[in-house]
Amino acid sequence: MHELRLTFIGSGNAFSPNGLCCNGFLVNERHLFEAPPQALSSLNHLRIDANTIDNVVISHHHGDHFLGLPFLLLHWKWQGRTRPVRIVGPRGTRALGREIAERVFPAVTEQTGYEAEWIDLEPGRRVNVGGLELEAHRVEHDPGLTESLGYACRLEGRAFAYTGDTRLCPAVFDLARGQELLVSECASRQSCIPVHMNLLDDMPRVRAALPSEAQLLLTHISPDVDAGGLAKTLVAEDFATYSF
Ligand SMILES: [Zn+2]
Repeated sequence: MHELRLTFIGSGNAFSPNGLCCNGFLVNERHLFEAPPQALSSLNHLRIDANTIDNVVISHHHGDHFLGLPFLLLHWKWQGRTRPVRIVGPRGTRALGREIAERVFPAVTEQTGYEAEWIDLEPGRRVNVGGLELEAHRVEHDPGLTESLGYACRLEGRAFAYTGDTRLCPAVFDLARGQELLVSECASRQSCIPVHMNLLDDMPRVRAALPSEAQLLLTHISPDVDAGGLAKTLVAEDFATYSF
């Protein structure tokens, strides 16, 4: 069985409490989920060459998930990237991502030495990007955004899912069903934030929706989030790698 390795470039929520880096993780060194503002510096801290990443998968356009893209594009243009890259996200990712990047680093997407494919993925649609299969699920987060997605994923025969940011909604249970691993947001311990899930009320229900042998991995946390006594549950730490 192929191994799934998740390396966290950040585990915190948008407020970077206690200095936590904003949430994002790299799967098997090639597939980056989220582009938080510090994505490039976190990768450099981990001695991971950003040019070796094949895919960037964005759940939604809040700044803590998206605003690291201009720095990745800058690195790719000027630090020798030649491999193609795919950037997948909800509706509007291509237009917004390119506009922001071009405004803060003019011409950063022009005359590059690599091909970039931007994929705006509709809920319910699937795409295979270099062996990573993604199925987009519409989750319920900030209605002011174009859309917020969670992803059911298949990679080298392994099944995992990522909630993105969401309140507890039917899509979370759909994402949990039949997985070996669920990476779930857990933005607070007990505060009821309408657009997020918390540890004490929501995670027991998420845990119960997963197969008993599946792993639950919490991220996008505040520092008082722990495993809550739940079975097969871990809390991500900045720069840690988890193998399954
Ligand atoms: Zn968000």
